[in-house]
Formats: sequence, C-alpha cells, structure tokens
Amino acid sequence: MNSINHFNVVVIGAGPAGCQCARTLAKLGYKILLLEQHETFQKNDFSSAATPQETLDKFNLPETVVGSYWQKISIVTTNINHTWASPKTLGAVLNFAKLREFLAGEVKNYGGQVWMGCRYTEHFQENGKTIVEMRRFGGDKLTVTTEVLVDATGPARAVMYDKKNSKPQFLTAAGIEYLIEVEGREYDKYANDLIFFLGHKWMPKGYSWIFPMESAQQRLKIGVARFNLEHKQIVETKSMRWYLELLIQDYMKLEKYKLIDTHGSTVKYSVGLKDIYYQDNVIAIGDAVSTINMLGGEGIRHGMENAEIASKYIKRYLDKHLFSFRPYQREMQIRYAIKWNISEQMGRRRYMQDSDELIDKGVKYLKSLTVEDMMKILFEYNFQKLYKGLGKYIQRKLKLVWQQINNFFMAKFS
Ligand SMILES: Cc1cc2nc3c(=O)[nH]c(=O)nc-3n(C[C@H](O)[C@H](O)[C@H](O)COP(=O)(O)OP(=O)(O)OC[C@H]3O[C@@H](n4cnc5c(N)ncnc54)[C@H](O)[C@@H]3O)c2cc1C
Repeated sequence: MNSINHFNVVVIGAGPAGCQCARTLAKLGYKILLLEQHETFQKNDFSSAATPQETLDKFNLPETVVGSYWQKISIVTTNINHTWASPKTLGAVLNFAKLREFLAGEVKNYGGQVWMGCRYTEHFQENGKTIVEMRRFGGDKLTVTTEVLVDATGPARAVMYDKKNSKPQFLTAAGIEYLIEVEGREYDKYANDLIFFLGHKWMPKGYSWIFPMESAQQRLKIGVARFNLEHKQIVETKSMRWYLELLIQDYMKLEKYKLIDTHGSTVKYSVGLKDIYYQDNVIAIGDAVSTINMLGGEGIRHGMENAEIASKYIKRYLDKHLFSFRPYQREMQIRYAIKWNISEQMGRRRYMQDSDELIDKGVKYLKSLTVEDMMKILFEYNFQKLYKGLGKYIQRKLKLVWQQINNFFMAKFS
C-alpha cells in the first residue's frame, strides 16, 4: 500500500514535546499528523515523570494523568538525610503513558491525525514539496507531504541527523526504573514524598530516587541514573540493577514486593546547546534540542514549554509571516543557555568530582533552607541561596564566571 496525504505540519515523535506541539497547532486549525513508532504509549513508558504543580496548571492537564501528588522533598546521602515538607501540594508524579495518551487524544479531538506504530525513515524535497517517508509496524511504506516537519524524536534526533550528518558531542546518561507494588504500610512511608539519593553509596556518578505512584495500587517508582563520564575519584562501579537492588534491600528493607514493569532510556544532552534547531522547513523540539536540564534530569515541563515556543513560530511560518526559523533558535538559546550551562557545570561537579564528604557538606548546608528555597533551586534553577552557603572567595569566583557566561551568550544570541 502506498498512500499520499498532505499536511500543514508532520510531527515525528509522540513524547511530551511532540504531543504538545501537535495539540497546540491542531487546536489552531492546522492539518496535523503526529507520528509515533511505538504501537502504544505503554510500550515506552520510560520516564519517572516527576514535575512541579506549574506543569499541570500551565498545560491544563487533567487529574487522570497524575499518578500521585507530592508535598515533600527528601535527600538521602551516604551519611545523612533531610526532608523539606510543605502544607500544600508542590507537584505530581505523572503517569507518563497516560500523559501522552491524553495529549494525543487532544490532537485527535482538534481534528489532527495520530498514527501509532509508524516509524519515520526519511524526508526529501521534490518539486518544491517536502516528502516524508515512514514504515508502518509490519512493513507497509507510507508517504506524506508537509509544509513543516518537526523532529520531536527525543535523544534519537532521527530527522535532523541522517546517517550523513555528524552529531555534536553529547553528554549522555542512562536511567532505569522499576515500577513496583508494595504493601499498604510500606507505601505510606513513601507517599507524598520525592526522595532523591545522592552520594557514592547509593549511586556513584549519578543519583537514584523513590517516587510514589497510584496510592490505590500502592505503586512506587524506584530508579537510578548515571552519567557516562569519568569520575575523579571513583574508578569502579557496579551494574545499575545492583544499585536498584541496594535501594530495595538496604534502604527500603522490603521483604515482599511485586515488580510490575522495568523501563529505562538514555538522555543525550548537547553541551553548549549546539544542536541543530532548524534546517529550511524542518524544526527540532524537546530533547532533540536538549531541553532537559542536566542537573536533575527534568525534561517534561521544558519540552512542553519549548513546544509552545516552536508552535508560535510554526504558525507564523505557515501564515507566511516568517521565512526562516532563525528567531526560534535565538529565543530558545536566550531562554535556556545560561541556566542550562550553570546547571551542567553544577551537575558535572556533583556527579563527576565531588567526594562523599563534600556531598554531605552540601546537604548539611541545604538543611537550613526552607521548602520554598528548595523548590526555587530544583525547579526554577535559582541558585542564589546556594551561593550564600559558600565561602566569600568561591562566591566571588562564581559571580565572575556567571558574568562571563552571561556576557558570552548575550553577545552571541542577541
Ligand atoms: C529514566 C528517566 C527518568 C526521567 N525522569 C524524569 C522526571 O522525573 N521528570 C521529568 O520532567 N523528566 C524526566 N525525564 C526526562 C523526560 O522524560 C524527557 O526529557 C522527555 O520525555 C522528553 O520529551 P520529548 O518529547 O522531547 O522526547 P521523548 O519523550 O523521548 O519522545 C520522543 C518520541 O519519539 C519517538 N520516536 C523516536 N524516533 C522515531 C521515529 N524514527 N519515528 C517515529 N517516532 C520516533 C519515540 O518513540 C518517543 O516516543 C526522565 C528521563 C529518563 C530517561
């Protein structure tokens, strides 16, 4: 079978960024095709999907996509632990499959098409048209034409980088997670709390976590993530699964639990945001342009925000008020470059250099901060409070580095 359809926009990849972009443009009345290689959203349900309350409000997300809410943040290191609690809800752990299912449903409700189990293979220009080729699960080749093509394929960057294109240098991290069911009294210990494990005992060169999911089923997400870089002090590490078991046996001391699912994925972040943002009428969004923050691995909110920015420029392009996506790249880099650069530097220090003693020292200092301060650090990337805990000399040095980075990016992108 070989069918030809024409669309205003074809979005490749139904992650949070691709779905949100397709949702916004379909709502505006454009003819949209959203393409996803997996047949169902349960098949790549890879993300822990913790997010602040802002994400639910800003993107009008219903309760049905929420696994659980949280109002506490805890940090556990090799030697110490501390919890910051709030009387109000601070955020949610989303059901990642349900989130994308909901967003894709919205695309359909607004008149767009969603083709699941359909893998993008290539695109090319012919007689002034952009031809997109894809293969349906089972073998059928399909061809469509489009005015704008969106690369929302996450770390694969499958549209922007064909085999001929050399990719920039990426900072990579791998993460795996168990979804487990536990007994009621065990679940209650972890309800409402985002627990992060730092320190060499729990996950050298990375971090691990326990997040609550649906309380009715007493489900928890237990995960570990690790950077693929050399550590100054740590030479040998064990397998990722070994550290997952360590959490279950040593920290949780679980005698009984039911493993529901094991999933994981890779994050590929372009240092200095050197991704290709656009090429003629092809534009990249979400993790395909490194919208994930490398310090804490938060990417859903930023991918969706980025989709909104991209949609604004795609609309102008389709309406013939814009002829190049250059302003899109500029807005993205002005918005993210400085904060992302500082987060990356902090991440490198934390995960690739710091000794256990330094990690403990850092968390000891954090104990003096309020839960509001912690939210600002973790989700607004506002590090002012952190600087105050450092010595005057380091404060001055950091201020200088901050100014230099700021000047560099302002000169480059304004
Ligand atoms: C283990 C782990 C835990 C995480 N935890 C959190 C967290 O707690 N909070 C948070 O905010 N973020 C978290 N993240 C990051 C977050 O999940 C990502 O940043 C986010 O999913 C990126 O969205 P995206 O739409 O850009 O890309 P993706 O979600 O990666 O979606 C890309 C889509 O494109 C599809 N695709 C790829 N190639 C093709 C092709 N050729 N044809 C068709 N489809 C294709 C893929 O199947 C996929 O569905 C985590 C990531 C990992 C790996």
